[in-house]
Amino acid sequence: MRREQLYIGGEWVEPNGEGEIEVINPATEEIIGSVPVGNSIDVENAVSAAKSAFESWSQSSIADRMKILNDLSAALKENTEELAQTITAEVGTPIGYSRMAMVGTPRVVSRSYAKILEGFEWEHEVRNTLIVKEPVGVCAFITPWNFPLHQIIGKIAPAIAAGCTMILKPSKEAPLNAFLLAEILHEIGLPAGVFNLISGHGSEVGEVLSGHPDVDMVSFTGSTSAGVRVSQAAAPTVKRVTLELGGKSANVILDDADVIRAAKSAIGACFQNSGQTCSALTRLIIPNSHKEEIIEIVSARVNGYTSGNPLDDSTRCGPMVSAKQQQSVISYIQSGIEEGAKLIAGGEGMPDGCNSGFFVRPTAFSDVTPDMKIWQEEIFGPVLTITTYDTEEEALVLANDSIYGLSGGVWGSNERALAFAKKMRTGQVSINGGPFNISAPFGGYKQSGNGRELGMEGLEEFLEIKAIQRPIE
Ligand code: NAD
Repeated sequence: MRREQLYIGGEWVEPNGEGEIEVINPATEEIIGSVPVGNSIDVENAVSAAKSAFESWSQSSIADRMKILNDLSAALKENTEELAQTITAEVGTPIGYSRMAMVGTPRVVSRSYAKILEGFEWEHEVRNTLIVKEPVGVCAFITPWNFPLHQIIGKIAPAIAAGCTMILKPSKEAPLNAFLLAEILHEIGLPAGVFNLISGHGSEVGEVLSGHPDVDMVSFTGSTSAGVRVSQAAAPTVKRVTLELGGKSANVILDDADVIRAAKSAIGACFQNSGQTCSALTRLIIPNSHKEEIIEIVSARVNGYTSGNPLDDSTRCGPMVSAKQQQSVISYIQSGIEEGAKLIAGGEGMPDGCNSGFFVRPTAFSDVTPDMKIWQEEIFGPVLTITTYDTEEEALVLANDSIYGLSGGVWGSNERALAFAKKMRTGQVSINGGPFNISAPFGGYKQSGNGRELGMEGLEEFLEIKAIQRPIE
């Protein structure tokens, strides 16, 4: 899986940048491939290709865009196994989850935008004014490694639907799936220049794209710190910036909930994709009246959570994406112990049976207090933190006690849970385990970001609005 060229203007071209970025399989620590390091000249070429292509693509028919989106969805389905194996090799995601979430979700998201286009209202009238929606222009996409293809499709599908052209810079850890995607987009006949791919460093390719005067919008998914850098680089050209950033989401069990079901489900909600999920429900807030019962369930389940080879169908927790990420998660576990939280499962060291690979032990802490680092900071690994409350008001204060506001959960009788969900300062809330919906907007309050992805709201992000005033007769 050695890639030596970039995809610009509908062709595979030699990069101007020097060197390569090695891709490491986190389960085996082996180098499995490499991608080129693009530079600012490559950015210039890609932006120019996207700008030229915008003229005709922005005028393309809705039927043409729908065909591309449906063909993309079909091609993702056809290539599921290759894409899933690639993502498992890059990220370490258990293979079943890769097939379902890493490839299956993007397939459905792509199709959903063809569906949205079927009935989309591009124009409407307000008295003497015709209000017209138009594509925003050339877009730059900067994406992370944890759900790499999902995060890419969450941007390119609505951008294609809107009539925008684009340049993608995927993450350094998991870029190979983006190269497969470029091949797919080429094969299904996306016109040259509509989609361009440059691999490379965020500090160079990412920042140059963000500041480029011919880029009309930058859509970024990743850490809050890099999101701030992107916003700063974008500010002088006053471009549109959407940010999907980190999270530290609360999962609240009210005292009239089915606590057994809620406690069982809390593990998966925190540990999906080995805990490397921005919307993971990492802070479990439970009533003192049910503390012992819930902790017993959580502790038993976390201790029984199987870690190991992601290609083994029985594995639920794969490795962390990199040695750096593994070290970071371990230091959070150490910090939890040092700050006096009670370790109820897991801990430092490798899971049983794992001698190599960037693994950590699925871990849970109870008696966590809001002043602790493990309560406040995004760990991005399989570490669940639990705290207790006496009154519902206290539970709400705890739930909202975060600089982030990406996701959340609440368990209780339906009406009470809904009322509680409405008071949570966060972009999504699941009530009683309500599942993720690819047609519902996804995005953050507070330092979890700006803007929304997915569904109709995700399309609107890629549109400008023009008001054409007509004489009043
Ligand atoms: P990251 O911020 O390190 O990298 C994300 C992307 O930004 C990469 O492509 C990287 O090369 C690029 N980048 C880095 N520095 C940059 C700079 N100065 N200018 C421009 N681009 C730059 O994040 P990561 O480690 O890949 O992903 C993990 C983080 O992403 C977590 O914090 C997680 O919560 C967040 N995330 C958020 C969402 C969401 O939808 N809200 C989804 C997934 C991940």
